[in-house]
Amino acid sequence: MPDPVESTPRPNRSWCRTLALCAAMAAAVIVTLFAAGAPASARSKSNQIQYEYVPPKDPAHQAIYDQMKQGRALENLQELLSPLRLPYPLKLTVAGCDGVPNAWYSNEVVKVCYELLAEFLKHASKQELPMGITRADTILGPVLDVFLHETGHAVYDMLQIPILGRQEDAADQFAAYVMLRLGKEEARKLILGAAYGYNIQMPQGVRVTMEVDAFSNEHSLPAQRAYNVLCIAYGADSKLFADVVELEFLPKKRAELCPYEYEDLTFAMTKLIGPHIDKRRAAKFHEVWARTVTERRARLARP
Ligand SMILES: [Zn+2]
Repeated sequence: MPDPVESTPRPNRSWCRTLALCAAMAAAVIVTLFAAGAPASARSKSNQIQYEYVPPKDPAHQAIYDQMKQGRALENLQELLSPLRLPYPLKLTVAGCDGVPNAWYSNEVVKVCYELLAEFLKHASKQELPMGITRADTILGPVLDVFLHETGHAVYDMLQIPILGRQEDAADQFAAYVMLRLGKEEARKLILGAAYGYNIQMPQGVRVTMEVDAFSNEHSLPAQRAYNVLCIAYGADSKLFADVVELEFLPKKRAELCPYEYEDLTFAMTKLIGPHIDKRRAAKFHEVWARTVTERRARLARP
C-alpha cells in the first residue's frame, strides 16, 4: 500500500515565481492549517482563561462568594494560567452544587463548588502547625491545588495529551508541578498546605481501618495523595523540603526515590505540556502570584 504522504501530489516549484504569488500561496497554506480539522495545536493561543462567579443559591455560601469576588480570586487565577496556549477558552467557575462538596472539569469548564470551599474553611487549622504551616496556608494550598488539579484535567483533554497511569494521579502531578514554579517560599507554603488538606495531620504509624471499596476510588487515597505531593516537592528541592523527611512526614524509604519521580514528571511536563506554554508570559508566573497573594494571606490569617 502506498504511503499516503508520498502519494499526495506536490506543488510544482515553478508556481511560486513572484513575491506576491508566494505570499498568496503562504496565506492559502495558513488558512488551510487553521481550518476545522487542523490539529488543535495549530489553533492554540495564550490568554484563553475565562471566569464566572455564579451567585450561590445557599445563603450560607454568600460570604465565600463575597470574599472570592472581593479578593479577585478568579481574576488572579486567570492571569496565573494565561501562559497556557489552548485551542478553546477554558472557563473557571465557582458555583453551588446542591450540597455536594466537589469539583470537576467538563466541556471546557472547571467548576469548583462552594460546598468544597466551605469544607476547606471548616478544616483549616486554627493554629500554627509544624514546619511553620499557617492557617492561610491550609486554605490557600488546598484551594489552589483543586483549581490546578481540575485545570490539569482540562489541559490533558483540550490538548489531547496522552496519559500513562491514572488520570487523577496525573492531575495531582500537574497541580504539584505548577505550584513548584511559584518561587521557593510560596511553593513550600502551598505544597505543605495542600498536603495538610490531604490529611498530613495523620500521626505517623497510626493504623487505619476503612471499607474495602475505598480502595476502588479513581483517586488515590487522601494519605497517598499527601505522600505523593510531598514526594514531588522533596524530589524537586531536597533542601527546601528537608524537614518533611527529618520530621517523618514523608518516610525515608519513599524519599530516596523522589528525585527519580520528580525527574519523570519534569520530563513528561517539559515534553508534553512545554510546547503549549507561552514562555514570555510564563516568565512572570512567580511575579503574578507574589503580587496577588499578600493581601489574601492577611485576610485568611484569622478564623
Ligand atoms: Zn480529578
